[in-house]
Amino acid sequence: MPYETQPPASHFIDGAYVEEKAGTEIPVIYPATGEKIATLHAATPAIVKQAITAARRAQVEWAAMTGTERGRILRRAADIMRDRNHDLSVLETFDTGKPYQETSVADATSGADALEYFGGMAATLTGEHIQLGENWVYTRREPLGVCVGIGAWNYPTQIACWKGAPALACGNAMIFKPSETTPLCALKVAEILCEAGLPAGLYNVVQGMGDVGAALVSDPRVDKVSLTGSVPTGRKVYAAAAAGIKHVTMELGGKSPLIVFDDADIDNAVGGAILGNFYSSGQVCSNGTRVFVHSAIKEKFLTRLAERLDNAVIGDPMDPATSFGPMVSERQMNIVLDYIEKGRAEGARLVTGGARIDRDGYYLQPTVFADVTDDMTIAREEIFGPVMAVLDFDDEAEVLARANDTEFGLAAGVFTRDLGRAHRVAAAFQAGTCYINTYNDAPVEAPFGGSKMSGVGRENSKAAIEHYSQLKSVFVRMDDVEAPF
Ligand code: NAD
Repeated sequence: MPYETQPPASHFIDGAYVEEKAGTEIPVIYPATGEKIATLHAATPAIVKQAITAARRAQVEWAAMTGTERGRILRRAADIMRDRNHDLSVLETFDTGKPYQETSVADATSGADALEYFGGMAATLTGEHIQLGENWVYTRREPLGVCVGIGAWNYPTQIACWKGAPALACGNAMIFKPSETTPLCALKVAEILCEAGLPAGLYNVVQGMGDVGAALVSDPRVDKVSLTGSVPTGRKVYAAAAAGIKHVTMELGGKSPLIVFDDADIDNAVGGAILGNFYSSGQVCSNGTRVFVHSAIKEKFLTRLAERLDNAVIGDPMDPATSFGPMVSERQMNIVLDYIEKGRAEGARLVTGGARIDRDGYYLQPTVFADVTDDMTIAREEIFGPVMAVLDFDDEAEVLARANDTEFGLAAGVFTRDLGRAHRVAAAFQAGTCYINTYNDAPVEAPFGGSKMSGVGRENSKAAIEHYSQLKSVFVRMDDVEAPF
């Protein structure tokens, strides 16, 4: 292996790498070859305790610093991340299998954006003054304390930063548990924050499976939990956090609709559908996997889609020309193959793809099913792989009702040239993030998150501040106190 993928140790606690080999072994597999590229160990209860103790100690002094001082460190970390974008992107590719063509523009860069944005915002966080006659109230915006972040495997660097940056900007400490499938990248985020001057103990990384996450969530010394993961995990984590009345952010799964009207620019709509189904080999939570296409343009849409899919460059993810990589793991590949089988069995028409690619690693063909109906499994359940379901429609009201007929509410998109219809449809969507004539943009300036079963709270933007801080009201009386006796 020409590139060093084995980190110095499994965990990063109190400003240093920490190893504890008693924890369960976590093999890290490069999805493009199936090769083991690192071995880590899950945190033992002693490691979890060490991380929480360090975070609690460090948070008090961090919160006492000015926002300007805190922000400067985060912005410095953003600069280091950008300087090291190449190496961080290579590591992200090893961790996830996503092509370098993607990771070099979407991962460390997005993490750096979050550090820069919340670093810039740190100094602007204030309470307010509320005059009540000659008396008054002022509010203090205070940190929550120790925040736990738990990540999914699709965007390990981005998730580590999207949770860490606002938490730190608000004066909290963070303990981040990456997904056991992609444990490498968050360690680099911790290293970089440290190098940028973040005091020890404020950004800790502990490895492990669900039980380590659960131990962190249920510890009474933890004040907030932010999870990116599936709905079933979200249910468990939300319930465990509720037992301690903890703050939560839940970024969960989706089965988002993408509606293409007959007046849409077909090439743009096909481009949106490709971005919303095949980027990161379909392993994106907000993907528009139910593509409703107006019956008048359906065949034209499918023909153009198949032509453009032929241009996908499937291969070595490290080759900058490669635009489509493997699934993150053998397990995820098999889950997706099962769904493809269900699509066939339930009568959907396979337009293209549908099989594993005959090469090392966990590669699947980009897959499109047409003539999908609302009741089919592939139209109801989150697949989290490169499988697009195309459904027909004729009428706006009908398609909106069908688009919203799901337990999820993460994202939704519409392609049309009719401005009135575009905004009417966006307003009617039951989803946290909507797109008009585009799909899957996620700039740090905009709130991101789900409604219905897809989540609670918002990441990014000013909205994230509300989820990493709390207001204290201080009443000040200038006149005399009137007591009844
Ligand atoms: P997952 O739910 O299996 O695991 C997510 C994380 O939770 C992992 O780190 C896992 O170790 C941990 N975990 C599992 N059980 C736990 C427990 N009982 N207590 C605490 N932590 C526990 O999800 P995944 O397979 O890693 O990721 C795919 C899912 O994530 C998909 O459903 C996808 O839609 C979702 N996702 C959502 C967003 C978003 O922003 N909404 C982004 C990316 C992925």
